Parts: sequence; C-alpha cells; structure tokens
Amino acid sequence: KGSILQLQAENSYAGLPPEFYTRQQARPLNDPRLLHANAEVAAMIGLSEQALRQPDFLEVCSGQRPLNGGKTLAAVYSGHQFGIWAGQLGDGRAHLLGEVPARDGGMLELQLKGAGRTPYSRMGDGRAVLRSSVREYLASEAMAGLGIATTRALALVVSDDPVYRETVETAAIVTRVSPTFVRFGTFEHWSGQPEPLQALFDYVVDRFYPECRGAPSGDVPGQEGVVLRFLDEVVRRTAVMVADWQTAGFCHGVMNTDNMSILGLTIDYGPYGFMDAFHAGHVCNHSDTQGRYAWNRQPSVALWNLYRLAGGLIALGAKPDALKDRLQRFEPLFLQAYRDNMRRKFGLLRWEEGDAQLLDDWWSLLHNGRMDFTLSFRRLAEAPERPDEWLELSPEPEEARQWLAQYRERLAREARPAQERIEAMRRANPLYVLRNHLAEQAIRVAQQGDASEIETLMRLLRDPYTEVPGRESYAALPPDWAADLSVSCSS
Ligand code: AMP
Ligand code: MG
Ligand code: MG
Repeated sequence: KGSILQLQAENSYAGLPPEFYTRQQARPLNDPRLLHANAEVAAMIGLSEQALRQPDFLEVCSGQRPLNGGKTLAAVYSGHQFGIWAGQLGDGRAHLLGEVPARDGGMLELQLKGAGRTPYSRMGDGRAVLRSSVREYLASEAMAGLGIATTRALALVVSDDPVYRETVETAAIVTRVSPTFVRFGTFEHWSGQPEPLQALFDYVVDRFYPECRGAPSGDVPGQEGVVLRFLDEVVRRTAVMVADWQTAGFCHGVMNTDNMSILGLTIDYGPYGFMDAFHAGHVCNHSDTQGRYAWNRQPSVALWNLYRLAGGLIALGAKPDALKDRLQRFEPLFLQAYRDNMRRKFGLLRWEEGDAQLLDDWWSLLHNGRMDFTLSFRRLAEAPERPDEWLELSPEPEEARQWLAQYRERLAREARPAQERIEAMRRANPLYVLRNHLAEQAIRVAQQGDASEIETLMRLLRDPYTEVPGRESYAALPPDWAADLSVSCSS
C-alpha cells in the first residue's frame, strides 16, 4: 500500500463492553516532524517505503488523523506497582488507533504513545519526552533483532512542544505495534467481576489463544480447562521471554503487572537497561530504590506477577489449586529455556549435569570482575584457541584462566569442530547491544533533529550478530561518561 490511509482498519477492542475503554481522539503535537519511520515494521502491515513519506503517514502517527475504519480509544487497566496494588490505571498517554491486517495473516494494532491526556491520565500530562521515546523506539527494535518477543515500533514523531519533567524537555510520539496491548493488569482490573472478566477472557482467548478451547484427552474439561490451558500458555511464554532477557543482560526496570503483556511480549520500555559491566544484582531504574527489579530478581518477579494474573482468573471458575499447579510449571520452563540459551551461548551441543557448576562459576567470574556482559560472551568463542582478547576483559586473569581451563575440558567432551562451534557462538552472542551510552548518543543528536544515529543503531541492532566493518566503536566497551548515565521512571 502506498498510503497508510489505504489500510483497512478495524478495532475489535471497541467491541468489548463500553467500560473497557473510552473513545478519545489523540491530541496532536504542534508542528510535528517525522524523525524516523521503520520500514521493516511498515512492511509487516503492507506499507511501502513510499507510504512512509506521504503527509498522511505523519498525520496518523502524530495523532492528527485516525486510521480509516479505526476507532481511537484509551483502554482501562489496573496493576501492582512495585509490589503494591495500585488500583485503576489505564492508557494515560496511549491511544489505540485500531488494528490492520498483517503480512503473516493476523492483525496488528497501532497505538500512539504520548498523544495527550485521556480519562486515565490521573496527574500526568499524557505526553512522552523525546529522550524516552527514542529509547522505546530503539529498544523494541533491538529486542526484535535479538529474537526476543517484543512489541514493535513503526514511527517516531517529534515536536518542539515543551514537556515538564525534572527539566523542560520536548515532546515525541512513538507509534507502537502489537497484536494486542492487553496486560496482566487488564485482567486484574476485572478480577472481582465475573461478567466483564469473562468478556475479556473470551476476547483474548478467541483471538490469541484459540487452541486453548480444545481439550486434549485427559485434560480438564469445560471452561475450567480453557482457563488452565490459557494460564499454562501465558506462563510458558513469560518464562521464555524472561529467560531471553536474562541471557541478553536485559533489565526491564519496571516489571509492574500493568507492564506485563498477556502475549508474553516485552512491553513498555522505560528505564530499561542492557547491562555493561555485569553485576547480578544490577538495578537499571534509578527510581527502584529497593532493587525489586534487579537483574537476578526478574524471573521470580515474573512468577509473582503470574500469581497476580492467576488470582484474577479464579472468578472464571478455575480452582485455586489447579491454577497453582500450572504456576508451578514456570520454574522448570524458565530453567529449560534459560539453560538452552546458555548452552547455545557456550557453544555446547548438549546440556550436562555438571554444566550448572560451569555456569555458576561463569557468573561469579563476571560478577567479581564486573566484566562486560556482552563482550564476555562474544569473545568467548575465540577464547579456547586465542584467549588474549577475552582475558583482557577480566581484572583477575588468573580466575579467568581457571574458568577457561574448565571450559576447554567441557568442550573436549563434545566432538564439535572448533570452527563450527565458533560460528554457532557468533550467532548466539551479539556483538552490538543497545548500551545506555549508545542510546544517549542517538538521543543527543535526535534533539538536534538529526536521526542519523537512530538509523545507524537500527541497522546494527537489526542483526546484532554480524560484524560491520567501520562500526568498531559501537561494539566497544562503554566510555567513562556512561557510568554517570542514569535512567528513572520519569519519561
Ligand atoms: P508506566 O510505569 O510508565 O508503565 O506508567 C504507569 C501508569 O501511568 C500508566 O497507566 C501510564 O499510562 C501512566 N502514565 C505514565 N506517564 C504518564 C503521563 N506522562 N501522562 C499520563 N499518564 C501517564
Ligand atoms: Mg506502563
Ligand atoms: Mg509506560
């Protein structure tokens, strides 16, 4: 399609009972400019590159104009924030424009983030600052490049409109793309009310989990069975997603239940961080003073969040014990996905009993030496044959040498040709990650209206495993000034 207005939009969410949302037009920015458009995501909904250059694309992505056939709305949800029930929240600065057919046969929703106040804005202004919008835009594409389940980003629109945070910043709007933006918190919102809860459940299951309707022989019959199989699948997807976060060194930063996608997608990029120096208790969000969402707590927090989701499903007729039984599958599923990731990152063909120790020692080595997360893995491929570059990353080369000796012994038990292993490891261990200082560089030039750094990063992060000549600085250790960067909930 050569124009976004040729997309045949609908909005199935608007077919839910009216208490689920408020119809609300976006509030456009003044003098909006399209800073960047994502041709890859555009292609997913059948938009040509030319369509991205049409004025109507900017009009839609800046909130001036709805989609054809779309029904713009803000959705209500609730959630637990930092472990505490926060009550009603909702799309305080997000407008769902509608859904359009996707190349893969499904539908994708388009949502504007930062397009003004809604009935769920509470004290907020409904805006998003350029800084956090660039970070969200880049992060969703970086995660996609790593093969991690995520919402996507189609466009980044900027304006000179002031937005007041700790300092005065400027406004931006990210157009996000996902099959749905339903969260755990959407279910929690209706947990005491069987009728709307049932409507939400049927909507989500019919569209995204239809296979849960069929009862395999021997499984729980009736509605309870559907609920249990649904929870099972959300548990599985969430476990895989968090395992992928752990092995990419990704910290979400705000794993509140309203920021947990019911599809197991990474969603709501705010004060996230890809780790530079490894610390098991790394906390990327400056506002998280208790360290609730530290790297090493993400798996247990995900499970805690799943318990909150499951609690809300009791009203649908599922017995607490049966729900609990499904929740207990999280840990083995997580471990399986996590080990599988680590096995590939270590270039191993099989996971053996003793590998758990090798892995523990690996994390201790990285932690004790605050070694760089990404490069420690990346350079490990060559280390058995040529250890110098890898050893350079460790301030305690003796401990590193000992670990390497263990690792060599382990490799020797698999008759895998070194070259084949090295190539496999290069496909499992990225060279480029969206380090905070790289995002910061992109933000600084974006604030001058220059999208070149965003473009460069998007290209590298789309295929972060393949080395690009001339881009050495993007694969380097962070500069000293990166240590002073801090990100917070303010966005
Ligand atoms: P977050 O922690 O960013 O996921 O946001 C939590 C809740 O606050 C959600 O309901 C958001 O929609 C809302 N919110 C965050 N920032 C703003 C803002 N600037 N204006 C209105 N609502 C906001
Ligand atoms: Mg949120
Ligand atoms: Mg948010």
